[in-house]
Amino acid sequence: MNYKYLFGPVPSRRLGLSLGIDLVPYKTCNLNCIYCECGRTTNLINERKEFFDCNEIIKELEYFLKNKPKIDYITFSGAGEPLLYSKIGEIINFLKKNFSKYKIVILTNGTLFLNNSIIEEIKKADLIIPSLDSANENTFKLINRPHKDLKLNKIIEGLINLRKNFYKKIYLEVFIIKNLNDSYNEILNLKNVIKKINPDKIQINTVDRPPAEEFVAPVSINKLNEIKNIFGKKAEIISFKNKNIELEKSNNFSTIINCLERRPLTLEDLMKMTNLHVNELNKILRELEEEKRITKIKGDRGIFYKLK
Ligand code: SF4
Repeated sequence: MNYKYLFGPVPSRRLGLSLGIDLVPYKTCNLNCIYCECGRTTNLINERKEFFDCNEIIKELEYFLKNKPKIDYITFSGAGEPLLYSKIGEIINFLKKNFSKYKIVILTNGTLFLNNSIIEEIKKADLIIPSLDSANENTFKLINRPHKDLKLNKIIEGLINLRKNFYKKIYLEVFIIKNLNDSYNEILNLKNVIKKINPDKIQINTVDRPPAEEFVAPVSINKLNEIKNIFGKKAEIISFKNKNIELEKSNNFSTIINCLERRPLTLEDLMKMTNLHVNELNKILRELEEEKRITKIKGDRGIFYKLK
C-alpha cells in the first residue's frame, strides 16, 4: 500500500520507534514558528477542518497495524498542527478500540486547549506533548508568529485547563533560541507560568535541524543545562537516544543520495522527488550530515542539500 497519511516508523528522540500520522496538508498550522523544521507555514489558519477523509486514514491504519508491527508509539505529528484536524477524536477512538496495545501520543503546539470539546476528543491519548516557548507576548509573536486570533494569555489558560481535564501524562516542550528566549528573565517568567500548568515533565530543546528561518541559532549545551537547573527537577534536555534503532538505510538512503547526485536540492524538492514524509527526510538528512556525506548551502530558494 502506498501510504499517504502514515510515515515511518521513524526513530524518535523521545519516543523510541514511532509510527507517525500526518492529518493536515503541508504546511497547515496556526503558528509559523521561526524554528519549524518543516519550513514556513503556507496555510496559516485557526479553523478546524476534516482536511482528508477520515475513513481513508483509518483504512491506512488498519492495513499497517493488522500485522501487529513492533512500535513504541503511534504519534500524531507531521507537517502542521494535528489538532486542526476536526476528526482526530474519531481516529483515536478507532485505535483504542481496535489496536489498544499501542500507546498514542499527540505532539501539538498547545494553542487550542481552552476548548474543552477538543480535550474531550483526545482524552484517550496516553501522552500529550504541547509546546510553550515564552511567557511574554512579544517574544511569543517573534518566535511563533501566530495566527491573528491567538493570544498568549489565552493559550496559557488553555494549557492550565488541559492539566485540569486530562488525566494522563503531559510533557511540556520548550524550544530555546539563542538571543531570543534564553535570557534569565525569559526563563524565570516561563518557570512561573509552567508552575501553574504543572506538566509531568519539561522537555528543553534547541535547534538541531535546519529551521524555517536561517537566523535561528541554537544555544550551547551549557546554556541548556543552566536552564534545566532553573526549571528544576521535572526538566530534562532532549537528546537523541539511540535505542538500537536502525533507519531503513538501504532504500531511503540510496534514493536520497541518487537524487543529490544530480544537483543540490531543498527539503521540499526532496519531498516531491522521494515521496518521503518531511519528518523521515529530516531524520535521514541529519544522519547523512553526521556521517559527513552531505552538506548544506544557502541558495535562492532557501537551504539546499548537496553531496560532499
Ligand atoms: S513548529 Fe509546530 S507549531 Fe510551529 S509552525 Fe511548525 S508545525 Fe506549526
